[in-house]
Amino acid sequence: MAEINKAPRGTNDVTPEQSYKWQFVEQKLIETAGLYGFKEIRVPVFEHTEVFIKNVGDTTDVVQKEMYTFTDKGDRSITLRPEFTAGVMRSIVEHSLTAGALPVKVCYLGGCYRYEKPQAGRLREFHQFGVECIGAASPIADAEVIAMANQLLSDIGIKKISLEINSIGCPTCRAEYHKALKAYFEGKKEELCGTCNERLERNPMRILDCKSPVCSAIAKEAPVVTDFLCDDCKAHFEAVKSYLSAMNVEYTVNPRIVRGLDYYNRTVFEFVSGDIGAQSTVCGGGRYDGLLGNMGGQDQPGLGFAMGVERLLMVLESQNVEIPSGKPCDIYIAPMGDAAALKAAVLCSQLREEGFEALTDIVGRGLKAQMRYANKIGARFTLVLGDSEIESGKAKLKCMENGEETEVDINALPDALYSATFAALADSINI
Ligand code: ATP
Ligand code: MG
Repeated sequence: MAEINKAPRGTNDVTPEQSYKWQFVEQKLIETAGLYGFKEIRVPVFEHTEVFIKNVGDTTDVVQKEMYTFTDKGDRSITLRPEFTAGVMRSIVEHSLTAGALPVKVCYLGGCYRYEKPQAGRLREFHQFGVECIGAASPIADAEVIAMANQLLSDIGIKKISLEINSIGCPTCRAEYHKALKAYFEGKKEELCGTCNERLERNPMRILDCKSPVCSAIAKEAPVVTDFLCDDCKAHFEAVKSYLSAMNVEYTVNPRIVRGLDYYNRTVFEFVSGDIGAQSTVCGGGRYDGLLGNMGGQDQPGLGFAMGVERLLMVLESQNVEIPSGKPCDIYIAPMGDAAALKAAVLCSQLREEGFEALTDIVGRGLKAQMRYANKIGARFTLVLGDSEIESGKAKLKCMENGEETEVDINALPDALYSATFAALADSINI
């Protein structure tokens, strides 16, 4: 029987103590992507299974082994999104977004689902942030998207990460490469795993991405794709590299990156961290010029990337990057008695209208227990409200950091809290 006090294997909760980290990272990502003109797109968590088979490719691990697929009550085959690009392409076609201003620049953020063996950095529900740029074939677009990924990583606070790039050519030059690969792997057929034997017939490049130690050892000696690029692909790759250098984006060329999905062509890249163990790829992306046409849309070039939010947070943690924590409660009002409770509720709503986080007792605690609670949640100010305070209209506002008390007019509490907050701030930075 399933345990009802335990989240399903490979899923994580984000507790209230941790959520500020997610909010910080998510806000930064969307904000920085906005500087490059990317606007958020939201697509369903599930799509018709065919959307992923057609886009991700039926020779990939994702489609062959990892999808959460089920038949719904209307007898449709439905799949929880293992990634976003396929659904985003479907949406771009459905809403004819390419009929508007080109390039179409969209970014996304949300959960993805893959039936994988859970381990550090590998979950069954994980979160991706990513972008897609549709309608730009020029190498400047590749460089801009890679430079943006680089800036996103540094804006959230990552101190050190390496960028590896490669070109996997176009369908024309890749045909030659496939022949060479096939010839090489044919000679090692007996040693390759069962899945790779199938890949050998249908898509030998996939073998380079196999996680089995035997296959990856064999793949190390395989011919490299950069030796087979046609003149156009070579020129494109050289231009991407020179733009990156001009923009001071450091990279190394790694001819073994092929990326896990079927739809890439020309530029592919990964950001890899040495700080988080075996699941070290934080961001992966590349160009996928045929994809939109393949989905029945306008034939437009495209490129993009996706980063795993959990892995980003793991890098931040291992590099001891401090994430600004959420703002503490501005004021806790501790009422004594029914009349005071009513007044406290009114004062809190006035304060909230002014943008303060204002809390009061909603569980019926005594004064002592209320003050303990205010301490526990780290309230910056407290104010005790009894009958005499209500009568005189005056109460003591206490700064919890330095213990100072100021008499304030409770009928102008928002103003008093503004001044007290400012005075405490000035005090803490010694103005
Ligand atoms: P990997 O080689 O680690 O399996 P992938 O090539 O399958 O990665 P992509 O499909 O390119 O990954 O997804 C982009 C990013 O999403 C990855 O670089 C990673 O940061 C994150 N990611 C992918 N799968 C998982 C997972 N199961 N759990 C956590 N993060 C993941
Ligand atoms: Mg994978």
